[in-house]
Order: sequence, then structure tokens, then C-alpha cells
Amino acid sequence: MKFLMPTLVYSEENCVLSHSAELASLGSRALIVTGKSSARRCGAFADVTAALDKHGVSWVEFAEVEENPSVETIMRARQVGCKVKADFVIGIGGGSPMDAAKAIALMIRHHDQDWEYLYDKTAETSTLPIAEIPTTAGTGSEVTAVSVLTRHDKHVKGSIPHKIFADLALIDGKYLSGMPEQILANTTMDALCHLYESYIHSAATDFSRMCAEAGIKVWARSKDIVLGKREASPEDYQNMMNASCMAGMAIAHTATSMPHALSYRLTYSAHMAHGKACGYFLAGYLREADPVEVNHILSLAGFKTVEELEEYYVVTCGRDEVPLEILEQSVEEVFANKGKCKLPPFPVYEAVIRRIAGI
Ligand code: NAP
Ligand code: FE
Repeated sequence: MKFLMPTLVYSEENCVLSHSAELASLGSRALIVTGKSSARRCGAFADVTAALDKHGVSWVEFAEVEENPSVETIMRARQVGCKVKADFVIGIGGGSPMDAAKAIALMIRHHDQDWEYLYDKTAETSTLPIAEIPTTAGTGSEVTAVSVLTRHDKHVKGSIPHKIFADLALIDGKYLSGMPEQILANTTMDALCHLYESYIHSAATDFSRMCAEAGIKVWARSKDIVLGKREASPEDYQNMMNASCMAGMAIAHTATSMPHALSYRLTYSAHMAHGKACGYFLAGYLREADPVEVNHILSLAGFKTVEELEEYYVVTCGRDEVPLEILEQSVEEVFANKGKCKLPPFPVYEAVIRRIAGI
């Protein structure tokens, strides 16, 4: 059994400023990677630049990461990073900018390689130093080694083979306070999927389950906020971030499973947000698993039955009608991938995947 968590994590209010020296120690010129606008609106960008300015570390911004970042975006950011001679990368945002930061740090380090290096399983995985500052409570990318990219040449979305852990994760719940309800619902659903998929997984160990169980308990503390039953306090936002981070630690050891595998086609072809797309398949996945284990993890989150979880999904994320041909394609692609079929701890036949997909 192996347990590795090489990322230094600080999770507390104002941690970007209070740990500015550690952030600044990663290099002398930072490439700050963000999405279009939320990093500035939520205050994280101001905190990061103030932290760097305090220690005389210069920085350049790349604020063009789209949701589900593409290889093309990584290569444009690499060009900016190389031009300004960035020697470390800071990702601020949801999973999209954080995943992009990892791939950009890899490609700046290997500046003489073309984009295919990202997908070269035999290539060496050294990167510039990386810091991640999450602003959603969903992906846990700040503590996973995964970078999920979109390949428009093949019309697919998926993880690159390189395993890249950030050096430093600075996690402050205050960045969630102005988040639109729908993004909060979708991203916290992603965290729940990570927790449940990691727990119900062929690679689960007592150590990965330690992360998953702790994460589910912390996740459950803010369920009623996502349901709109009460206002969130600063502590609630920190709890959401911590649950997402623990979920990241869990999948860093097991990987995700069927709901994530099936979700990528929904996001690519039906443009469904990542967490919502994973949640679409969660109840179906749990129905195929050992009921004793399922009841255990449902009860840890305060759900009595799979149906109650399904209801929670519908109320918080909404249930979209997905065109049948997209679901068919999803099932076909996942069934054709033997590696994906080995992720669940139960035998996977085509009929099983079809039931999970609800077709
Ligand atoms: P995201 O794609 O990073 O962002 C979604 C939206 O939320 C964007 O419009 C973004 O705006 C906005 N946003 C982010 N933070 C905000 C805040 N604090 N306040 C208001 N709006 C905010 O969302 P995500 O769900 O976190 O990440 C999804 C990506 O991560 C997918 O590509 C998925 O495949 C990947 N993922 C990675 C892992 C992993 O282990 N690495 C795990 C699961 C998923 P801006 O564009 O303006 O920033
Ligand atoms: Fe996810």
C-alpha cells in the first residue's frame, strides 16, 4: 500500500497572505494562471499579487483559461511564460485554471517540445514549481496529480498521463462567498462524486478510505447551505473547501470511477458543467455497488437512501434531459476502455454501464 501526499497544504482564512513567504520562495517570476474573471472578483488574485509584491517577486498574468481547458490554451500560456521567463506557476481558480497551471508548468519546463509531449506516456514529468489556490469547492486539483484537458482534434476530454502534484496549496474559504448558487451546487457535487467514487473503487485502501470518510463527514456539514436552508458562515465555506481537498486526497490514491468516466462525453457534447455531469451518474453507480458499503457512505453524508441522494441532486443541480445518442456514445466509449471498466470493485458488463447511464 502506498500513500503519498507531497503537496504542502495550508487551509485557513487569509492563508495566501500569512504564508506569502512560502509562496514567494517558489521562484522569482511567477506566471499567474486564471480563468476569465472570477479570480479577480473573489479576491484571490489581489491576495496573490499582494503576497508576491511583499517579497519582491515579479509576476505576469495569463487570464485566458476557459472551462475544461484546451491543449491550445496550454500552448498559448506556455508561450507567454517562456517569453517573460517565468520560473514558477500559480493557478488560481476552479479545476480548469488549476489543471491548466500543472500542464503549463510542464510545458514551460520542456519549452523545446511540442503539444504532443502532454500525451507522451514515456516522457519525463518534471515541471516548474507550482502553487494552487482553489476558488471552487469541487475538484481538489490542488492536491491531485491530475490535469484534465480538452483535445479538440479528437473531440474528447480526459486526463493527461503526466502525474503532477503542486508544491503548495493555499486554501481560503472566503473566495467562495460571492459564488453563484449554481456553481456552488455543481462543484460541491463534484467533491461528493470524488468521495463516493473513491470509496467504491477497486483501488480503495484503508488509507484512501480514511480521506474519503473524513471528507464525506465534512462535506455533510454544508449540505443545507447548498439546499438554500441557511446562510453560509466563513466556517461553512472553509468546510466546503476542506471537503473538496480531502476528496482530492482520496482520488489522488484511487482515481475516480464510472460517473467521472461517463461524464466527459456529457461535458464535451452536451456542454454540461463538470460536477453536474458526474452527479448525473452517481445514483446509478451506487445502485450497482455493495449495499452495505453504500449505506455506510450515504449515512455519513446524512442520506437515508440512494433515492434521497438522487433527490438532492435534482434539487441542487437540476436534472437535464440528455439526448439519448450522447448517452449511448458515453457508454460505448467507456465500455471500449478496458482500464475504465476495471475501476469499479464489481464486474462491469455493457449492461451494467447502461444501467448506470439510465438507458
Ligand atoms: P471551473 O471550470 O474551473 O470554473 C467554472 C466556473 O466557475 C467558471 O465560470 C469560473 O469563472 C467560475 N468560478 C470559479 N471560481 C469562482 C468563484 N470563487 N466565484 C464565482 N465564480 C467562480 O470549475 P471546476 O468545476 O472547479 O473545474 C472543472 C474542471 O476541473 C474540469 O475541467 C474538470 O474535468 C476538472 N477536474 C479536475 C480534477 C483533478 O483532479 N485535477 C478533478 C475533477 C475535475 P472564471 O472562468 O471567470 O474563472
Ligand atoms: Fe471531478
